[in-house]
Amino acid sequence: MDKVQRVVIAGGGTAGWIAAASLSRLLGKSLSVTLVESDDIGTVGVGEATIPPIRTLHKLLGINEKEFLQQTNATFKLGIQFEDWGQIGDSYIHSFGITGKECWAGEFHHFWLRGQREGMTAGFGEYCVEHEAALAGRFSLSPQQPLNFAYHLDAGKYALFLRGIAEKAGVKRLEGKINHVGTCPQTGHITHLILQSGERIDGDFFVDCTGFKGLLIEQALHTGYDDWSHYLPCDSALAVQTDVHKDPQPYTRSIAHDAGWRWQIPLQHRMGNGLVYCQRYLDDQQAEQRLLDAVDGQPITSPRLIRFKPGKRRKGWHKNCVALGLASGFIEPLESTSIHLIMTGVVRLMRLFPFEGVTQAAIDEYNNKLDSEMACILDFITLHYCATERDDSPFWRHCQSMEIPDSLRHKIQLFKDTGRVFLDDGDIFRVDSWTQVMLGQRIKPRQYHRIANEMSDTEFEGFMSGLRQQVKHKVESLAKHGEFLNQLRG
Ligand code: FAD
Repeated sequence: MDKVQRVVIAGGGTAGWIAAASLSRLLGKSLSVTLVESDDIGTVGVGEATIPPIRTLHKLLGINEKEFLQQTNATFKLGIQFEDWGQIGDSYIHSFGITGKECWAGEFHHFWLRGQREGMTAGFGEYCVEHEAALAGRFSLSPQQPLNFAYHLDAGKYALFLRGIAEKAGVKRLEGKINHVGTCPQTGHITHLILQSGERIDGDFFVDCTGFKGLLIEQALHTGYDDWSHYLPCDSALAVQTDVHKDPQPYTRSIAHDAGWRWQIPLQHRMGNGLVYCQRYLDDQQAEQRLLDAVDGQPITSPRLIRFKPGKRRKGWHKNCVALGLASGFIEPLESTSIHLIMTGVVRLMRLFPFEGVTQAAIDEYNNKLDSEMACILDFITLHYCATERDDSPFWRHCQSMEIPDSLRHKIQLFKDTGRVFLDDGDIFRVDSWTQVMLGQRIKPRQYHRIANEMSDTEFEGFMSGLRQQVKHKVESLAKHGEFLNQLRG
């Protein structure tokens, strides 16, 4: 039970700098923080779409929104548009907003389902401001009209931006390649790192942010990895940046193809593009050609190949080491959950921080919470692949028949049979998110909660059309996303 005062962060990608900025800014009086990164190794260079809780982190860190937008070339994100997922030609948006109005017995989709049965034709999204604003390319920040949003950001610039915050708060940065991780023969705890230059860095607690390889958590502590590739077939991505000549849309695009999907993430100054695929069904050369044929604009970087194994480290916290970011595992880029997991990981670590020494109870609490969070994300992402009617390629036929987690099988069956969605502990997605994706992926509930029938026909029509009118008015009052960004940048 040695006291913990010296924290060493290995790695300076998004994970390393989020950890450094948070620990120094929020616990800097009790801890000294050192970060080591290697310019030669560099970062993974992707990870540019986020989800709304990132704003909570920014609030905690006291980040000024205008400064952040200027320095990271960020744009606003109201959701993700999924194209060609359920069937070729389908399109739906998983938006971050609240759809309609819920009541004690169930959420708004029960009312919408009643409407559908009675011949109403309005789409589910037409009752959600963020959904309609995304489609209309509109966005504003206004206390009267608060929207639930996230950002698209330049990953390299974001790491630099956070580095500025961390260094101002006292983080010591060292540049160099870690060649050796020293451990205590008695406890197995990490005691120090040795750089290629020979420099030795001693620490009481270590945060592994070294990316996929997990230099500390895996290579030194041999924590083990749960491989989830039987649930998630994609294992490769090619990323390329292109120039842009039009206003950015306030949402990410995720377009399915016959062996995976493709992303489009708009920034102020460029577009981030990527093709995610399964090597078994598409080779790298074909994938590169497919990506280059599909992108808008001229490439400004060469396509970059990234291999990954969907899954997670068996323990996110082991001995005196917590892994964050890719070192702790990676599920899939779909639904942009990885940066979010860095944030929840670092906040959980700070809440449980072992100032008086590492205890097994704190480790177990951290790992249990992480496991439930990861299990829910696994279910949510797998849902996009398994709930499809596409059978136009071996990849999609595999997705239709592949093994899925029991918890997901139950959620799908419950929704099909009853229209109900209940969240598990640790679920980072709301009922609204599950409903939008289930409906978008063509899962049709056989019934809805009869609470929706408590209104008379006239009351019901007034209720539904009133909600749509409110959404329409709110969206009309918003600025065009591109114009709003220009205003903010001054
Ligand atoms: P890295 O960026 O790989 O950083 C590792 C750091 O460790 C670097 O600084 C490196 O120099 C250092 N390092 C490694 N070895 C050594 C050594 N021996 N000595 C010294 N330093 C060392 N997440 C999202 O939230 N949204 C997305 O849209 C999204 N898209 C993605 C798309 C793809 C294809 C992939 C693969 C991931 C995506 N992610 C996304 C995940 C996201 O990219 C990562 O969570 C995020 O970038 C954090 O990465 P990292 O800091 O853990 O690792």
